[in-house]
Amino acid sequence: MRIRLLFILTISILSLKNYAQQSSRPNIVVILTDDHAVSAIGAYGSKYGATPNLDRLAKEGALFNRAFVVNSICGPSRAVLLTGKYSHVNGMRDNRDRFDASQDVFPARLKQSGFQTAWIGKWHLVSYPQGFDYWNIFPGQGLYYNPDMISMNGDTTRHNGYGTDIVTDMTINWLDKRDESKPFFVVVGEKAPHRTWMPDTADLGKFDHINFPLPKNFYDPYNKRIAAGMQDMSIEKTMKLGYDLKMKSDPDVVAEAFIKRMSPAQRKKWNAYYDQVEADFLKKKLTGKALTEWKYQRYMRDYYSTTLSLDRNIGKILAYLDKNNLTKNTIVVYTSDQGFYLGEHGWFDKRFMYEESMRTPLIIRYPGVIKPGTVSNQLISNVDFAPTFLDAAGVAIPKQIQGVSMMPLLRDPNSSIRTSAYYHFYEFPGEHSVLKHFGIRTSRYKLIRFYDHKNFWELYDLQKDPHEMKNLYGQKKYDAITADLKKQLEQLCIQNKDQEALKALAQNF
Ligand code: CA
Repeated sequence: MRIRLLFILTISILSLKNYAQQSSRPNIVVILTDDHAVSAIGAYGSKYGATPNLDRLAKEGALFNRAFVVNSICGPSRAVLLTGKYSHVNGMRDNRDRFDASQDVFPARLKQSGFQTAWIGKWHLVSYPQGFDYWNIFPGQGLYYNPDMISMNGDTTRHNGYGTDIVTDMTINWLDKRDESKPFFVVVGEKAPHRTWMPDTADLGKFDHINFPLPKNFYDPYNKRIAAGMQDMSIEKTMKLGYDLKMKSDPDVVAEAFIKRMSPAQRKKWNAYYDQVEADFLKKKLTGKALTEWKYQRYMRDYYSTTLSLDRNIGKILAYLDKNNLTKNTIVVYTSDQGFYLGEHGWFDKRFMYEESMRTPLIIRYPGVIKPGTVSNQLISNVDFAPTFLDAAGVAIPKQIQGVSMMPLLRDPNSSIRTSAYYHFYEFPGEHSVLKHFGIRTSRYKLIRFYDHKNFWELYDLQKDPHEMKNLYGQKKYDAITADLKKQLEQLCIQNKDQEALKALAQNF
């Protein structure tokens, strides 16, 4: 009798515990944008006021100053997010790989544990999503105007309108139709502000009154930095007047295809603006530095204008959560697939382990857990996202996951979850000609090993040289620091089972 009673009591306690877990499980909204540099976000110090809704999110949650990606390129970054594993383990090393979507992805585990799950918008992993209740994705990179989208039955449908609005509206529509008895997890995958920075017609010219100051290292001579000197991603040489900056006098069939896709009404507004920009440009007959600097201004104006719609749409999602009493029990995460160069080193694009592209924005609002207005300088890697979401949802973290949960850090912004961030970029030869490299970033130093095509090292003291202009590798007084960093890097390669990096390290030179 006593045993039976004890049994009933135990079962009751367990069910109560289970019920408490179920009912308190937070919803999770991940807004994942593309190529959004921290330097263009108000909460991170941008002066140009393009992001009031992101700034609101930071004020109500936490802003992370040292969030890094492990491989600064679109597809691989999403694969890291989905798996919590490094690129060499999840198989998506560069944009030319195909992601095996049948592998263990954390949203599938959330779904198994009772979450409703969705991925909407940019996916960019070649294969189709698996393990979601709902998905609707752009083919490839996706388009800004009247984009095609692939639905779960494999059909491709053209959606009229501006891409950022479409992804948001589709998300809100899905949220509206969800089963309210279950928690939800959704990734809002925006294309913006990816190249070719095509603003919504409502935002054309919004930054024309601003003369963006050139970054101090815009004219970087690339001294003692071989890879930086070899790249093909400069505003001066690589950025195209037609494809990137919308000038029709530059015969560019690809750029023309984007415009041909527009409706007559969209095209009318587009042409009214860019025809005037072009007329002014042609009159000036610019060459040399004046031409490069004109390109930089146009790049900045288009890039910033593109982020206006992005922020407005983030506002729509926050307003939806407010209106439906979901704010209190929903974690909202804002991040990008990596950072971007806004003229630093003379560049656009990403790929390098240097700060502007390795660093990604990360803002998290988690009512009841994160104190509003928190700012954290602790190191975080995007390999940590998957275990964090599982942890927040009360789902066990599989031991194969290589990242660590950020939950201790969310609860206490002074605690730390890692002492270094690992990086490995593979795409060479490839677009933009960035050499293969891997390395370690600690809170103060960065050691990078370029390998394969060319073998060399770079060392930066980020405290003294935050713009990474002085390669200190080989300087006698840094020998001890270098030796220590090399040891840490080797340990990371072993721990992360990165055989390709270990093979490069074994080469003695
Ligand atoms: Ca990207």
